[in-house]
Amino acid sequence: SQVHLVDERCPCGAADDTVVSEIDRYGLPLTTVLCAACGCLRTNPYLDDPSLDDFYRTTYQTMYARAPHLETYFANQTGYGVRVRALYEVELPQRASVLEVGCGAGGSLVAFHDRGHFVAGCELSRDLIEFGRSKGVPNLWHGTVEEMPMPLASQRWDLIYLHHVFEHVQSPSKSLHSLSRLLAPGGRILTIVPDVTRIDQFTNPNGDALKFLHVAHKFNYTVPCLEVVGHAVGLAAAPATPPPELKTAWSEMPELWMEFRAPTGGLTTPRLPRGEGERILNYLLNTERRHLAGFGVPPSTVLESPANPSQPTDRAKSRKPVKRLWNWLRRRSDRAA
Ligand SMILES: [Zn+2]
Repeated sequence: SQVHLVDERCPCGAADDTVVSEIDRYGLPLTTVLCAACGCLRTNPYLDDPSLDDFYRTTYQTMYARAPHLETYFANQTGYGVRVRALYEVELPQRASVLEVGCGAGGSLVAFHDRGHFVAGCELSRDLIEFGRSKGVPNLWHGTVEEMPMPLASQRWDLIYLHHVFEHVQSPSKSLHSLSRLLAPGGRILTIVPDVTRIDQFTNPNGDALKFLHVAHKFNYTVPCLEVVGHAVGLAAAPATPPPELKTAWSEMPELWMEFRAPTGGLTTPRLPRGEGERILNYLLNTERRHLAGFGVPPSTVLESPANPSQPTDRAKSRKPVKRLWNWLRRRSDRAA
């Protein structure tokens, strides 16, 4: 199938970008730009809707060797499910309704199902859905959230969460808007995405920003960017902090946990901090310099399951290092000079 690329603005609405890289983590040509207004990194131009849909239904599942060991993957998923559950231990009502969008094999939903909550999840990989069903996870369907099967369609949700999914979506505001219409009164949406603004503090990616740049990650969001996106669809957005003592297969990488909910009272307009793009750009430049000089995060907090083959960190380690062509054009700094 043919691939079509389209140019788009940053989700914050600004149109002032700096090209920060012209390759991805595999050394393949891919243009990443940084928004001067909010600091969000995004792939631009990007695949259009049909190309992206085709990508996720076919290429993505094999290209990224997404779940080579299903049992381990499923158990790891339950791990992050426990972490999300811990965040809402107090807040969630009894028998809450919980929906995961892009749920993989549905392993994380087990954490909620075990506590008597009503769970459901959707996923574009048919194999992962079938595996989840074989493990007894209820209400899983193959497809998008719009393709929700009839018995679930009238359900409203106390919690909708997306774990390493929101950075992949074509339009964050459209996705957020359609999800917000599925919320029960007082419900919330939680998005968990990689956090490129703290890459020097975690063993993965160990200060190597290039590892976060690849075609499946359309966006590397910042907090201000997501605040603006939330506001645009009538939701208040705020960062959330997961319980630090719970380790998962994903907790060795920096994550941004962001919560969206209907505002109580009026919705305050978020203000983009002045010079946010410049600040993120400088952070990335400094981190890259230190990374190239051999800086590394001390491995003191490594997850205690060394024989686990499906951890993203282990997979990354087994790959040959790509030639570093980190191409900072620094148009912004040049203009300022
Ligand atoms: Zn922006």
